[in-house]
Amino acid sequence: MQPTEKIWRNGSFVPWDEANVHILTHALHYGTGVFEGIRAYDTPRGAAVFRLTDHLERLRRSAALYEMDLGYTLPELAEAIHETVAVNNVSSCYVRPIVFRGAGPMGLYPRDNPVEVAVAVWPWGAYLGEEALEHGVSCKISSFRRIGPNTLPPTAKASGQYINSVLAKLEASRAGDDEAILLNEEGYIADGSGENVFAVRDGVLHTPPTTASCLPGITRDTVMRIAHTLGYDVREVNLVRTDLYFADEAFLCGTAAEVTPIASVDGQQIGGRGPITKAIQDTFFAIVSGRDERFSDLLDYPVRAAV
Ligand code: PMP
Repeated sequence: MQPTEKIWRNGSFVPWDEANVHILTHALHYGTGVFEGIRAYDTPRGAAVFRLTDHLERLRRSAALYEMDLGYTLPELAEAIHETVAVNNVSSCYVRPIVFRGAGPMGLYPRDNPVEVAVAVWPWGAYLGEEALEHGVSCKISSFRRIGPNTLPPTAKASGQYINSVLAKLEASRAGDDEAILLNEEGYIADGSGENVFAVRDGVLHTPPTTASCLPGITRDTVMRIAHTLGYDVREVNLVRTDLYFADEAFLCGTAAEVTPIASVDGQQIGGRGPITKAIQDTFFAIVSGRDERFSDLLDYPVRAAV
């Protein structure tokens, strides 16, 4: 990981190495944090943050579920993010805002622990590897089920719930695979450890509905918009593992993974990047790099640069 210089913490910048927490931080023990994964991209108009408002809205919803007051308005957080990108001089980077219960009383009751807010940014290339963007990744259907709406609601992006993804990721890695795909309690595909899943069959895109215990991904939504614009139908339907085994094409998508083809699932070969995946991927990269005017409203520029 390539550190940057400064991290925004509770309203001011601190040096990267000094952005530490106490060992009794509530979130460290009980997972009481919520966060976002966002990307900023270099565009002809400078650094742009992709779908910033949508990410911040999701952060607010995640925080509300766990009764954490953000302490800042969403425009204030948006400004903090743009400033953190600018101060670190990284036009293309990953952006990680986190809101968490800090040190204070121990025990599960969280309301007396202070809420802290921080934003870190760092350069982060292709999450599943540059090669994977073309040749795809091997996936394993996890034997660990995805958390559900009545255990840890997957619609929120909370730190504690990622223990579920970590179990699946470790299992996939032990099996020699690149990524894990989790089934929900009913046995339908939910999502990857950190990505949403799409399968292409007979020219139609299929993806699990958000009721299937997947995170309502912002890249997933972008892919659906791209597909419609390119003239492809998208169906939000429950998928079983064989829908992936016998797909014409399949891919993962997420802020970190962007649009990454799936090469195989449980050793069943799907193939490399197919033509529809490539069309979606090409359009996605054109949008985020500010080269597709049809979607220019999805990029957020610092207010000062826009005037
Ligand atoms: N599912 C899970 C479990 C994730 O962690 C992520 C990454 N945030 C996604 C899907 C994709 O969401 P997004 O496109 O909003 O990054």
